[in-house]
Order: sequence, then structure tokens, then C-alpha cells
Amino acid sequence: MPDALHTLRAVFGYEQFRPPQDEVVATLVEGGDALVVMPTGGGKSLCFQIPALVRPGTGVVVSPLIALMQDQVAALRQAGVRAAALHSALDGATVRKVEQQFLAGALDLLYVAPERLVTERMQELLSRTPIALFAIDEAHCVSQWGHDFRPEYLQLSLLAQYFPNVPRIALTATADARTRAEILHRLQLQDARIFLCGFDRPNIRYRITQDNGKAREQLLQFINDEHPGDTGIVYCLSRKRVEEIALWLTARGLAALPYHAGLTPDVRQRHQTRFLNEDSIIIVATIAFGMGIDKPNVRFVAHLNLPKSIEAYYQETGRAGRDGLPADAWLSYGLNDVITLRQWVEASEADERHKQIERQKLDAMLGLCELTTCRRQALLAYFGDTLPTPCGNCDTCLEPPASWDATAPAQKLLSCVLRTGQRFGAVYLIDVLRGALNERIQHNGHHALSTYGIGKDLDATIWRSVIRQLIARGFLGVDAEQHGTLYVTQLAKPLLRGELSLALRHDTSRGTKSRPSPRGKVSFTLAHEQRLWEALRSRRRRLAEAQGVPPYVIFHDATLADIVAKRPQSLAELAHITGIGEHKLTQFGSDVLEVLHDHPVTAG
Ligand code: ADP
Ligand code: ZN
Repeated sequence: MPDALHTLRAVFGYEQFRPPQDEVVATLVEGGDALVVMPTGGGKSLCFQIPALVRPGTGVVVSPLIALMQDQVAALRQAGVRAAALHSALDGATVRKVEQQFLAGALDLLYVAPERLVTERMQELLSRTPIALFAIDEAHCVSQWGHDFRPEYLQLSLLAQYFPNVPRIALTATADARTRAEILHRLQLQDARIFLCGFDRPNIRYRITQDNGKAREQLLQFINDEHPGDTGIVYCLSRKRVEEIALWLTARGLAALPYHAGLTPDVRQRHQTRFLNEDSIIIVATIAFGMGIDKPNVRFVAHLNLPKSIEAYYQETGRAGRDGLPADAWLSYGLNDVITLRQWVEASEADERHKQIERQKLDAMLGLCELTTCRRQALLAYFGDTLPTPCGNCDTCLEPPASWDATAPAQKLLSCVLRTGQRFGAVYLIDVLRGALNERIQHNGHHALSTYGIGKDLDATIWRSVIRQLIARGFLGVDAEQHGTLYVTQLAKPLLRGELSLALRHDTSRGTKSRPSPRGKVSFTLAHEQRLWEALRSRRRRLAEAQGVPPYVIFHDATLADIVAKRPQSLAELAHITGIGEHKLTQFGSDVLEVLHDHPVTAG
């Protein structure tokens, strides 16, 4: 048998396994089963691809999405691996061709959709061919409790019965203890070795800024300052907002495309394809976008709305930086988000038990937003992971926010809510506190209240911040029925009685002026480096177009960055660049050397 490390180097061009890849690979090579829970971008694919190459026979991979299969097959072929896929989008002739290759032992890896794997025809083929292993990707699809449940996955247990001697590996990025147990049980993986890798995505920088009423300007500045020319995703809550933001960004010179369920399948497909195949596209989308998107070099994920839970936030931000290079998760949120989401939960059709769960999830998300300590520590703690020290790569670590004693303003506000009868929203309450003289206030007689005008010392922005934080912490409730009506909760009583003091986060105006972050993107300080980088990207694009594959299938950004850093002078030197194996060296080596030759080191 060829050696696993040798295969890693020769085929994929990587120097070392990332733990625990080596142990997973060894387990399978020796014929054992494994369950691998590893975050996105951790390197799950190699865990089954290497043993499939090392062991005799074909590795059979079950994957739920055609797009993911196609991507992996294309990438493997570029590395010189004999890979193919069987799924419903193929015509009959192609299916027969792939089946014949498989039977002839001419495939190292075969990707199969789950519903096809369990057909009699496929079982018959499998029984006639030596199998190196079965890999079950996105294994959480077997869980009836999860969001991605696929009934076809339940039938995969038959692999254990029919092929007791073929090692099996299940992989997922999302598995709490219950899902894990379900995977082991339903796929009959009782003897599998379990590899749990934690949830941290260290290359993602988490940042949550306060929406000061100019969220889209903040977004534009963030993109222009820190991600010019980069690929990213911008999430918005509604289709209308998606359209509006995409148009607005386009008018400012960015290549932004909308994506939501209200567009025709045709338009959606076109926008998704451009996103995958081009380097600088920004997709503005509702959460309908993302599943099955494996683009490795998404450099930022921005939210113009508040996700409903930490799980959703983690999953959506997780689409950034799959390639392990620095990436940003940027969220802008403000008072209106808090009110809208609270209202949604209260007005939802769900029964009280589910509402309670939704409330808790939203509370956790709001808590994350209002933190003054490390965001990553809190995020990981939510998933039961511990990070012993602050991460140094989130906004609260980089620019620790100050807090201020807001006890007195909070009391003023709460009593103003009470005295006006708990029938009004934020705008009106702030008007009363700041002593505005408008018709509505006069009509209601609220200019005569003792709380009228007692908040003149703080401007409206600060009052909005106080209200937001009081809602986030549960001192103020949002009425389900009426438009943004606020009421005082039980929790607030000790605060009103003066038994509790309250420190609130000091919102800085720094939210508008985002600091350029050198770790937030692939960046070069020297002009000739930048030129070489652009030239390599453009050559990569041409090579990709010629073959009809996305650019990242030719080379990952990490590979191009390594070339810029090392400037290899020969094929022998190029072979040491990360991500360049033997096959890519032969295929593209001369192209790369030519670009290098045309872009020498220059002064300045
Ligand atoms: P996952 O499926 O867990 O999201 P992938 O298998 O797509 O992750 O790998 C994520 C990225 O890490 C890819 O760009 C992959 O090429 C890279 N990678 C994985 N393992 C290694 C390794 N041992 N050395 C260098 N790069 C690696
Ligand atoms: Zn941190």
C-alpha cells in the first residue's frame, strides 16, 4: 500500500496532515470505522480521500447535494485523481459510462446521491466491485431532529449489513451530543472511533457593530476599506431589502447580485454561478442562499440583520474562510432589529414550549451582541467548548468597549414607560424623555408627566442604545400585537426600586469607521506583490474558463499567496508550494512560471 503521507504530498501538494486527519486516515486504512465532527474548513475531505487512494478498490462517497459532488469531483480531477459522480442530473449515457468505469476498477472515488446508493441496481454494482471504503458526508442529514433531515439517509444502515468488511466513515460539521448519538445508532457505527474537533474557526474575525441608522453606509465602508475586490455574502432579512441593498451597492461600483426565493430559478442559478466562477462577486441574499455553497475563498460574511439564534449566526458566518485564510464575520445591528425579532417570537404561531425555546435562543444571540468580553469565548461556550483565554481576533478583544453606569437613565426610562401606560414605542418614549413638544404628546397630556423632559441630558442615539440594551437584557418587553410597544418586565422591578445597578455597553461611533484589518484579507504591502497576485488570479481565471470549472478548483487562494511569498523559479521549486501536487505541476507549472517571469520584483 502506498504511504498516506506520501499520497498527501504527491497528489494534493500538502506538506503535513492537520491533526486529527492523520489518526482518522490511519483508522480507515487499517479497516476501522470513524465518526468525524469537524468544523467547516477543518479538512474533512482528505479524511476519506486519502484512505480511498491508499486502500485497494474504489472509495464510495455519499453526498446529499449535487453541487457539492460536482465541486469535489472537479477538484479531485485537477489533482489527477480518477473521480466521478452518479446523480439525477446526468443523462443515461453518462451514467452508463461512469458505471462501467466503476466496474472496471478505473475509479479512485465515486460520489453517489443517497437515494441512488440504496437502489437495487447500485447494490448489484457494489457487490461486483472492490470497495475501499464508504464515506457518508453531511452525516447529520440522518437526524430527524435536525434541519437537514433526509429520509434516504436512514437506509444507509444497510451498508453495515451488506458490507461488514468495508470501513465506513461518517462526517459532519454540526453535531451536538444527541445528533452524534443518532448518527452512530442509525448508521450502525457502534464500533467507530469518534473524532471531535471543537467548533472554533480561528481564521474568522467576529465583529458586531451598532447600527447607528446608517447600516448600509457602514457596510459599504467596511467593504471598501477592508475587502476591495473580494468575494463576500451580505445577508438581509427580507427580499425587498435584498433588492434594495444589491442595487445600492451596484450603484456604488461594486459587483453585487441579489439572491432570494422570489427570483426565478433561472436568475438564481445565474447569480450563483457567477458567484462561484468569479473572484469579486458580492451576493446579497436572504438565508435562502448558502446551503451547498462550498466556495472556499469567501472573504467576508456580513449581516444587515440579526440572526435568530447563535446556531444560525455560526452557520451563516461559517461560510466565510473555508480555505483557512483570514476572513471577516461582520454584523450590524440596532434597536429596530431587537424589536422586530422579539415581536416575531411573541407573535409566532408556535406553542408556548417552542416559543420559550425561541426566546432563549434569541436571548443568547442578543447577549452575544451586547457582550463587552471576548465574542469567541462566548460563542464557543454556547456550544459547550471552552477557549481558555480571550481570542485576540474579535472586535471586543481588539477594541475593548467601555461600559458606563446607566442605572439612573435606565430608571428614568422605565418609569417613563410605566407613566405613559406601557402603550408606546421607542420613538415616542424618547420624545417624552427629551421633552419634545409635539401634538401627540400634548394630545395625550404627557407633557405634564413627571418624566417629561427628564432625559434632556442624553441625546436620542444614546437613548436608543439604552432601550436596545434594556430589551436585550429582558428589562423591557416588546408587545406581540402592537407596533413596537414596550412594557416593563418583572425583571426590571429591582432596578426601579434601586436595588440593582446597571452597567451598559458604551456604543462607540467607531462602528462607522471600521479599522482596516491586515488579518481580515489576503493583503500585500508591496506594489509588485499586489501586481503578481492580480496576474496570478487572472491567469487562474483563464485556466478555469478553459476547463469549465470554478477558479478555486485550479488553485486555492492559499496556493497563489504562497507563490507570491516564495516566488519559485523552477518547476522543482514550484513543487514545494502548498496545494501543488504532481498533476497540477505538470498541468499548470509552466503557466505559473510564465506569470512569475512577466512580473519581476521591482522597486516600489
Ligand atoms: P471541510 O470539508 O471540513 O469544510 P475541506 O476538506 O474542504 O474542509 O478543507 C478545507 C480547506 O483546507 C481546503 O482548502 C483544503 O484544501 C485545506 N486543507 C485540508 N487539509 C489540509 C492539510 N493537511 N494541509 C493543507 N491544507 C489542507
Ligand atoms: Zn475575542
